[in-house]
Formats: sequence, C-alpha cells, structure tokens
Amino acid sequence: MGFDSFLGNPHAVTSVREMLASGRVPGALLFSGPGGVGKKTLALMLAKTLVCERGGADFCGECSRCRKADQMLAAAREDLARRREIKESARRVEGLIYFDLQIIEPITKFILAEQIRQLRAIAYTRPFEFPRRIFVVDEAQTIHWQAVDLLLKVLEEPPESTNFILVCPNAFELRPTIRSRCTRVGFQPAGEAIIQDLLAHETKLTAPQRELAARVAGGSVARARAFNPDEYERRRQPWVDFLEVMAGRSTGPSTNWRQVFDSARALAENRGDLEGTLEVGYSLLSDLTHLRLDPAADAVVNIDLKPRLMDWAAKLGLEGIEKLKAGLDQAYRLQIRNVNPQLGFETLGIDVVSTIASRLP
Ligand SMILES: [Zn+2]
Repeated sequence: MGFDSFLGNPHAVTSVREMLASGRVPGALLFSGPGGVGKKTLALMLAKTLVCERGGADFCGECSRCRKADQMLAAAREDLARRREIKESARRVEGLIYFDLQIIEPITKFILAEQIRQLRAIAYTRPFEFPRRIFVVDEAQTIHWQAVDLLLKVLEEPPESTNFILVCPNAFELRPTIRSRCTRVGFQPAGEAIIQDLLAHETKLTAPQRELAARVAGGSVARARAFNPDEYERRRQPWVDFLEVMAGRSTGPSTNWRQVFDSARALAENRGDLEGTLEVGYSLLSDLTHLRLDPAADAVVNIDLKPRLMDWAAKLGLEGIEKLKAGLDQAYRLQIRNVNPQLGFETLGIDVVSTIASRLP
C-alpha cells in the first residue's frame, strides 16, 4: 500500500509527495492529463494520506480512517449509480449527502448545479469523522455552466478544513478563473515499458500481445488493462483481408471483384460494433501512412503486423492510402447519418469498396 503502488507518472507522484512532506498541500489542486493514467487514483491516495491515522507523507491503507475512506467511496459509487438510473431530472439530485471524502462526478452529461450547491453548502462546515474534508471533482470540465461561478466563489474564499482536487483531461477546458485558483499537477501518458510490465504481472497475455496492447492503449493504463486480444483480432481480421485484396488490386492485372465484395461483407458483419471496427480501420491506415513516409518510424500501433503493413504501404502508395482514408471517412459519415444502423448497413462495405475502387490508380 501507499504511493509506491502507483504506476507511472513519477513527476506527478513526486510533486504530490513533496507537498505532503512539506505539510503544504494547497487547498485547491488541479490534476490534468490524458484518460486512464490514474489521476483520480492519485487524488484518492492524496486524500487518504491527509486523513490517515499514521500521519506523515504516505497512507497505510489499514487504519480505521483509511478503511472508512474506502467505505465512503463505495457508498458514493452506489449512490451515483442509483441516481443515474432516475428518469426525472429534479429527483436525480434529491437529498445529496456528501461524506468527508467525496468524489463529485457527473450524474448526467454534466456535474449539475445542485451538486456544486451542495458542495458549497458543506465546504465551510466542520468535517464529521475526519480531521479534514476532501472533495475530488472528477471530470471537472463537465461542471454545468450555471454552477461554475458557484465553484469559483468557493475557490476564492477557500474553506479552512476542506481540500479540493479537480480532475480533468485538459486544463484548458476549464475556465481560466477556475484554473488560476488551482495548483496544477500535470500527468503524462504512461510509458510503454510501464504498461507492458503491468500487463505481465496482471494478465496472461503473451509478450507480443502485451506489446500490441501497449501500442493500442496509447499511454492509457486503463485502456491497456481492458485490452482483449481476441476481440481486437475479431475487429481487425476483416480489415487485414480487405487490405490484402486492395493492395493486391493496385498491382494485379485485374480486379477479383468477388474477393473485394467478400472482404467488404466481412467488414460489415461486425454490425453491433461498427464504431470499434472503424476505429481499428483508422489505426491500420495511420500505420500505413507512417510506414510509407518513414519505414524506420516507431509509431506503428499494429506492431505485430509490421512486415505485412510495409508490404501493403509499398503497394498502395501514399495516394492509395489517402483514397482508402477518404473511403473510410465516407463510411464513418454514413454510419453517423444512419438513424437506424440496421438500415442500409449491408451496403456500407460495398460502398467503401466502390468509393475506394473507383479512386484507386
Ligand atoms: Zn491509514
């Protein structure tokens, strides 16, 4: 237990630990950086350290307050899940109760005005069970515009025994007035080595699968943890077949249309997951571009396919790759426009092919 269990972002961890060691933790902090790198986790570690019975610059995870903190967080999670189910908007924020350690998260798309009103009402009162009160405002960029000024007022007159930790992906999505009131701790995407290490400990993925997972995750620990190699393969295989056919077509003497349509149909078969399917398509095309421009570049996501990607990139050429991208963009627009995803879905693959085929050199 303790800060040593936090993976990645050593700079963020160090600056938080230094604040704690010096006994000068700012009343308002802003944790910003990409998704899935542990901003909220570190915020909660800091919160626990502020209340842990052992004192000092780390938390124990075992004392009664550390355990109490976990119970508060679990209760708040349940409460949030229940509120998100409520249909009538007014009732969603009825009877909000904030614990001494409280995560405030968007109930709908937004953190609602009533959530911030409750925060303000309670921030100046004495904590119930802990020596301090800590409010973690997650997805702070979603605070409803009606409530931003309320929060600003609180930050301008900081309460003595309450700490605020705002968490968001991009600090510049917050109003400058809010941003300037907070001490910022920046987070970076996690390094590939760290992610691969973590997967080696936590999962049964093979070494090549771990390498692929780290690339697909793009620095997000949460994404890497959720990576499912079978599912990824299921999405990718139709693209691999499709690209094989398209790359062959650009050099072959004539088009095997049956092959083209078969591979297009296979693409359209992942109908419940078109968004995911298109995402994989984009990642393959961006790999092709990278390899075409600079074969030595290390930016390839689908690292396990590198030799085949190099071959396709050479055969398609930049122009061919661009045309594939244009076809994919069109497929994407069709998908968005399609009110009923079932309708016309079968024609989508064919549409991609005809778009691409008509434009290929
Ligand atoms: Zn403790």
